[in-house]
Amino acid sequence: MNTQGTEWFHRIYGKTNKRVAYRPKDFLDYALMCAVCALVIHVVYGASSPVGAVGIVLCAAALVMFPVRNGWAPGVPIVLRRPQEVLYSIVYKLLNLKRWYFVALAVLLLENWLISITPTWPHHVELMRTIAFWLFYLHLGAITAYRTWILVVHLQRRETVREILMQTAWKRKLEEQPNIVLEILHAYATGLLAHILLIAPWFLVITWLDFSVLFLAATCVLNVYVHVRFLKVINAWFYRDHWLAHNSEFEFVYLHGPHHDAIPSGLIGVAGNGHLEGVLRHSIGAPAPFFNPFIAALVYSFEVQGDIEAHQFIPGMYPKANLDYQKITQHSLHHFGMLEPYGFGLNIAQPDANPEFTARFKVLPEELKNGIRLDEALTGYRWANPKHAQYLDLVRRYEGPTQASTAESAPSKQASDDTHASNRITEDA
Ligand SMILES: [Zn+2]
Ligand SMILES: [Zn+2]
Repeated sequence: MNTQGTEWFHRIYGKTNKRVAYRPKDFLDYALMCAVCALVIHVVYGASSPVGAVGIVLCAAALVMFPVRNGWAPGVPIVLRRPQEVLYSIVYKLLNLKRWYFVALAVLLLENWLISITPTWPHHVELMRTIAFWLFYLHLGAITAYRTWILVVHLQRRETVREILMQTAWKRKLEEQPNIVLEILHAYATGLLAHILLIAPWFLVITWLDFSVLFLAATCVLNVYVHVRFLKVINAWFYRDHWLAHNSEFEFVYLHGPHHDAIPSGLIGVAGNGHLEGVLRHSIGAPAPFFNPFIAALVYSFEVQGDIEAHQFIPGMYPKANLDYQKITQHSLHHFGMLEPYGFGLNIAQPDANPEFTARFKVLPEELKNGIRLDEALTGYRWANPKHAQYLDLVRRYEGPTQASTAESAPSKQASDDTHASNRITEDA
């Protein structure tokens, strides 16, 4: 368990400003964030490459969609009012680094040093680089195809998407901006842009650093070891970063905000992050970009695909919200307007959980599979809360075990009206 207490996890320089959604006056900050994203994409991928061009178009689309979806109002950007927030953010991330980040970086640098002092050995670095780029594009292409299929299903069932969201805290948003097709397309664009930015640090590594065929087995074993050890501390690392993302205005507006600006669908899934946030978390945080390309491709693929499934909080779609999974996580509530839980929100030790389903989590460390303990210790979070029960009821009605309420045979009008009146997953924020 963590030896650090509330004081460390909740330390902030300057004043706390709790945020969970964008406001019209954030528009100029958001525009600056989009410009920085476009610059990062241009520098990393090149504006003329297919990935770079798509990324920059998505940045422009995000900028156009903000005032349409959130409105806009003039305001002095945070980076002009409090430029020190940029420095604070970097310091927060540096102080939150875990030892496994440094071990992964050291393995990569050691490999490159060994390659440099043995130039006559058959390292085949160019072959390894070619394989690395193939793995990179295979990963991005396969996940994008998966995300695109999810988009097609959401568009086909758009009225069910609306019906379900109108029973949640998203009702207010849909009343302000009723075009559900725009919301679905915005979620897809959010996920794709966040994905392109998340893997930008990995792209830089495979572009500028070398990997040797001779060290392949050794680095793969070391990388797997590092990743397994990192999983023990990932919930604490995420909690701290995520707490800042909602308690520092700069962190929310520039880093984490896009993750909450889109409807709670698998379409947005990447690694629980916004746009620039992904670049920073995978430059100054997670060890994955430093891994051998084979292990990096595996880790990124499992992570992004898993995050897409983990963010499918609209039941009756593809992929499913999955009642068995929703029983053991409360991250859903965080996407329905609640600030907490700040960690991954997992708690597999549930009396009503499906043992066959939770068996797949057995290999995970205790700190992750029952990560809700950290929230309970630091914030007094209560797992047994009515909002989670209401959400489980929503999932049950649209994809419950009896299949009585599937997406295409949705609840009756009367049932829907009753739900609107008495069973809405709302947040007053
Ligand atoms: Zn969040
Ligand atoms: Zn999330």
